[in-house]
Parts: sequence; C-alpha cells; structure tokens
Amino acid sequence: MGKKREPVITIDGPSGAGKSTVSRLLAEKLSYMYLDTGALYRALAYKVIKEGLPPGDARLSELCARTKICLEEREGGLRVVIDGEDVTEKIRTEEIGLLASKVSGIPAVRKALLSLQREAGAEGGIVAEGRDMGTVVFPDADFKFYLDAEVGERARRRYSELVMKGMAADYGEVEKDIVLRDRQDHERSISPLKVPEGAVIIDSSRVTVNDVVAKIMEIVRC
Ligand code: C5P
Repeated sequence: MGKKREPVITIDGPSGAGKSTVSRLLAEKLSYMYLDTGALYRALAYKVIKEGLPPGDARLSELCARTKICLEEREGGLRVVIDGEDVTEKIRTEEIGLLASKVSGIPAVRKALLSLQREAGAEGGIVAEGRDMGTVVFPDADFKFYLDAEVGERARRRYSELVMKGMAADYGEVEKDIVLRDRQDHERSISPLKVPEGAVIIDSSRVTVNDVVAKIMEIVRC
C-alpha cells in the first residue's frame, strides 16, 4: 500500500483577518509547509512597479511569462524571490498590497500563478493561505477554513503591524485601503474572495490568534 498523503489545509479570508499569523503557527505545529499565496501576487506587483507598467497593461501577460517567482523555505522563515532578487521585506507595504489586489484580477496573472501553487501542494502537508485556496486552487482540500474579522479590528491589526515594523502609517488610510481591497477582492469576476463550499467560518474579531489556532487544531486532529 502507498504512503498516505498528508492533508492540504486551506485558509481563506479578507486582508487583516489574521490568516498569515494563524497559518504560520499552524504549519509550525503540524510540521507542514506554509504557502503564503498573497506574497506571490505582491512579488508580481513589485515587478510591475519596477518596470513602470500600468496595472491593467496588456504587457502584463508577457511580463508573467518571463518572470520567475520562488518561495524558498529558509531558517527564520519563508523567503520570496523574484528573478533571483529576495523581496520578502520590500513587498510588505500598503502600496504593494493594493497593487497586488489590482493585478490579481487579471486572468493572465492568476493563470501564471496557479500551477506554481498547485505544485507546492501536490504532496500535501501544506497550509495554504489566500483568497481562492478552497475555491479554485485546492477545491479538494482536506480541511477548509474561512477566517474573518470586523473591518475596524482588521484595520487596527494592520496598523499596529506596520507601526511595529517601523513603517509610516496613518490609521484612517489603512482602514480606507482595507475597505478598498475588500471591494476589489470580493467583486472581481475571476476567483473572487468568497467562503469556499464546506469551509468552517471563524470570526477572529474577539478571540486571540492562539484560540483560533487551537480551534483549527481541534478540527484537523479529529
Ligand atoms: O494576503 P495579501 O494581503 O498578501 O494579498 C495581497 C493581495 O493579493 C490581496 O489583496 C488579493 O487581491 C491578492 N490575492 C489573491 N489571491 C490569493 C492571495 C492574494 O488574489 N490567493
């Protein structure tokens, strides 16, 4: 008999719901790989800025074809490398987040990143985090979760995160960006953000990250 494949766990949800922290902790506890798919869209957005292309430009498809994005697991965490350049820290700005949300609505961009994501999950043993993990990328995932939180709470968390990283931040602007990003992510015609069929919905507005992780662990360990 062949070796049983390890599970695929998907975590979808809007910006600032705590997906990254929860997914990283979960992957650590289970000794699974952590796949941060937002980082892939952010890396592409970084290149779009670097090349000075407008987000909806027809040349984006060609840009995707000649771009190599890798997620490399190293000591101290996952590194995002685009065409050999490590952009892990550079892609964490609000500007890149917003642009990533814009370019992620372009079919050629989603197509270019789909196989990369599926390859990463082919062997199982993965916690995949994003907006279309349980709906499009891994529709047959073993466990699906949708992590949500109230807008104000998500904005507060994102603001504190930026301040802690020593980045310039204005709370009002952060909240505005979150609302705009929610709209773009929910309303786009391709792979919109929605609750995947069969997903367990967790509202993290008034619970700690550790409580969320404990709840998920309870479900996946059953
Ligand atoms: O999660 P993060 O904020 O890093 O994602 C940046 C943007 O990338 C999101 O606002 C979303 O538009 C896009 N994204 C996506 N599909 C994913 C992950 C991220 O469209 N699976």
